[in-house]
Amino acid sequence: MFPTGDAIRAQAPAMLAEHQPDIEQRPQQAPPRPLVDPFGRAISYLRISVTDRCDFRCVYCMSEDMTFLPKSEVLSLEEIDRLASAFIRRGTRKIRLTGGEPLVRRGIIDLVNSLGRHLKSGALEELTLTSNGSQMARHADQLFAAGVRRVNISLDTLEADRFARITRWGRLPQVLDGIAAAKAAGLKVKLNTVALAHENAHEIEALMQFAAQGGHDLTLIETMPLGEINEDRVDQYLPLSRVRAGLEQRYTLTDLPHRTGGPARYVRVEELGLQLGFITPLTHNFCESCNRVRLTATGQLFMCLGQDDQADLRAVVRQAGSDAAALDAALDEAIARKPKGHDFVIDRRGARPAVARHMSLTGG
Ligand code: SAM
Ligand code: SF4
Repeated sequence: MFPTGDAIRAQAPAMLAEHQPDIEQRPQQAPPRPLVDPFGRAISYLRISVTDRCDFRCVYCMSEDMTFLPKSEVLSLEEIDRLASAFIRRGTRKIRLTGGEPLVRRGIIDLVNSLGRHLKSGALEELTLTSNGSQMARHADQLFAAGVRRVNISLDTLEADRFARITRWGRLPQVLDGIAAAKAAGLKVKLNTVALAHENAHEIEALMQFAAQGGHDLTLIETMPLGEINEDRVDQYLPLSRVRAGLEQRYTLTDLPHRTGGPARYVRVEELGLQLGFITPLTHNFCESCNRVRLTATGQLFMCLGQDDQADLRAVVRQAGSDAAALDAALDEAIARKPKGHDFVIDRRGARPAVARHMSLTGG
């Protein structure tokens, strides 16, 4: 079992030695062989869904009656650590923990503390988290102490009733407290807003002002056709090209060169001093610069968010233990299958999602 609380902080170096025998000795060894896919893209960014569970049931993400995975199918925290460390050995520089809601996973702070050792050694540049904010108030200080410096927090509306309707189970004040706590702890906050035609299209400017006043960044996300959710996605879909065109009537938007290798494009809203991102998987092709892969809570590695092909790293980690060579070979085999790109379609005729798994499985 993963040690907890103070124990892990005391034991972090020992855990490093156990799971990751070569990281700290790297300077004396040959430089790591980077993971490069068949199209020449280096994989430097790993997203890990640490749980498929969540304390919300957002309408675009989950159905109300979700069946969650049995515990035996979910990677243990040690297994996550071992796989993450294998990626870091092969050049992963950034890790994002997500879910489901990462902060509802028991022992999550222990995992963050453990992965934090790679920040200290310099092998990892950034360890970050995407959260719904509901549990942020009680975790923010510990996240900062472990080396986390930035978090993404989802916020689709500033209206309490609407918030309760969109998230089904969430309460707005709790999330606003979480955002404030993150800031107070020293974490840079980026707010994520899913653009929903009939829910928050009229609130985008209010959210921009809220973000600017709090000193946060804001990123707008188009809905993606992932998983059955008992809602009509065509109804919810709001193209961000339309949102952007509307904003350009009222604000000066200056394109920023900043790229993350993902589907986000950034502008500065001059009047507000706000960095605003647009994530447009449906209207913009971003695959040629893709630098990322996604590990599910059950250890499936998805080489592309929009394709079904996956590699079963749970089987490998459960068999290989801490055999670095076996993990290495499995990563090579998986990345060799990374596809060139994806083809999301929201289409009235085929009312089925383009990809059957839920966002909470692959973690967005
Ligand atoms: N529970 C955390 C949260 O809500 O931030 C982390 C996981 S959540 C799956 C990650 C992000 O994906 C959130 O910003 C959420 O709004 C977004 N998301 C979920 N389902 C989506 C969908 N079908 N289309 C677009 N974004 C989605
Ligand atoms: Fe939970 Fe995040 Fe999905 Fe909402 S978007 S149901 S908070 S995992």
